[in-house]
Amino acid sequence: MKGQAGAGGRLGGPRDLPPGRRRADPQQIQFADDMQEFTKFPTKTGRRSLSRSISQSSTDSYSSAASYTDSSDDEVSPREKQQTNSKGSSNFCVKNIKQAEFGRREIEIAEQDMSALISLRKRAQGEKPLAGAKIVGCTHITAQTAVLIETLCALGAQCRWSACNIYSTQNEVAAALAEAGVAVFAWKGESEDDFWWCIDRCVNMDGWQANMILDDGGDLTHWVYKKYPNVFKKIRGIVEESVTGVHRLYQLSKAGKLCVPAMNVNDSVTKQKFDNLYCCRESILDGLKRTTDVMFGGKQVVVCGYGEVGKGCCAALKALGAIVYITEIDPICALQACMDGFRVVKLNEVIRQVDVVITCTGNKNVVTREHLDRMKNSCIVCNMGHSNTEIDVTSLRTPELTWERVRSQVDHVIWPDGKRVVLLAEGRLLNLSCSTVPTFVLSITATTQALALIELYNAPEGRYKQDVYLLPKKMDEYVASLHLPSFDAHLTELTDDQAKYLGLNKNGPFKPNYYRY
Ligand code: NAD
Repeated sequence: MKGQAGAGGRLGGPRDLPPGRRRADPQQIQFADDMQEFTKFPTKTGRRSLSRSISQSSTDSYSSAASYTDSSDDEVSPREKQQTNSKGSSNFCVKNIKQAEFGRREIEIAEQDMSALISLRKRAQGEKPLAGAKIVGCTHITAQTAVLIETLCALGAQCRWSACNIYSTQNEVAAALAEAGVAVFAWKGESEDDFWWCIDRCVNMDGWQANMILDDGGDLTHWVYKKYPNVFKKIRGIVEESVTGVHRLYQLSKAGKLCVPAMNVNDSVTKQKFDNLYCCRESILDGLKRTTDVMFGGKQVVVCGYGEVGKGCCAALKALGAIVYITEIDPICALQACMDGFRVVKLNEVIRQVDVVITCTGNKNVVTREHLDRMKNSCIVCNMGHSNTEIDVTSLRTPELTWERVRSQVDHVIWPDGKRVVLLAEGRLLNLSCSTVPTFVLSITATTQALALIELYNAPEGRYKQDVYLLPKKMDEYVASLHLPSFDAHLTELTDDQAKYLGLNKNGPFKPNYYRY
């Protein structure tokens, strides 16, 4: 298992394949959803136009990635500044190139917990599976994604990068990348115009044309489709991380407009079963404690939704001695909650007594004004789902209620009788808004992204069509295997006899595609 790259049996080892090509068993997935076209994505301002189609994730605050340097230290827009790195290059636009040294330390700290990416660099040394790749990327620009970007460069790629979120860039990290020669266009607190300008600077460059896209949210892909469709003539594939971006790709595919293969990283086992579950298990309490100093022992908490995120949150809350109730619409998830020892209730049944309400459904209007009216004094309300639709925050913007900002990301909403409800992050993702998220989990997702790029870039003509694919299972297994050494975990190897008995290849894949983990 160790040392294999899934597809071709080893990373960058194309000895039994044409140079630069790796084999995989693509598992094509179907597009079920009938969704809007790119240009019709509802925008935050309600307009439906290219000029403002930043996804929700693009505007959510993301203080886990918050810059340690104050973004208000210099009011001059980076677009107005003339900056060069120590090698004389000005092929970047960041807040302050002088922060590069500090950013480098941040990247080095992240590298400590991203050993899989570092080992990917070592294993691919000399082979350079991304030699010739010109990757245009749009992701959060944090120390963790910097480790990914530098890994892609170490594997032979040239990269141009912008931020997928106007708040999430760590300025010092962007500076460190620029100092290292990456063409990065991003800073914390970009305007909407800056946001698209940065993306445009990455795509629209004389003498340089991208042949791969790495996107988180679909905004970059959207921009290329609308502004530079000819670029797709050279693009070998798109790798997309987010739920939103993947939906957009499905929609394009369904409309017959997807003109290159795309890899859906969001639904890889190594993303969904780790990022969604473990990231939330590790960060829910952090977000709640930083904002409220609440003690959980004996507190009554209701968690809406017992999917991956809900399961992670409940496990953490239970471990601290909270009394946890679950609401669910799906009998299977409800039964899982029961078997895990939680009471499954309707929100109405417990809303008067609970101390904390947490939504993790991906749905809308799960907590309504009626629920909010019935909550007890000091009840904490927050959301762990992707968008700020789960709690009907708009219904709280009425004249009879007073809003008091008591801390960053903490509002007290006060009823005429003096009752206060504690609303966190205005109903946006709690952990991404108010806490840090664990580097190790991001390493798993980043490794999946790197392998998806390698796979798409090296796939022989015809293996992937103009459609959306899941990462081959062997690659998912490879991502997991790269992370096992961190735990000194020792895998058991199948004997020949056992492999024959189970009908498996000794080197995997070990599970059928329909296996649910
Ligand atoms: P999931 O589909 O596994 O779980 C959602 C659950 O909510 C499902 O079991 C569904 O039956 C239930 N549900 C839907 N409507 C409901 C309602 N009205 N009342 C009660 N239950 C309801 O999805 P997931 O992976 O758990 O993700 C949930 C959300 O969290 C998504 O929006 C996802 O994008 C987001 N997410 C957040 C983070 C984070 O770091 N905060 C990480 C990954 C995903």
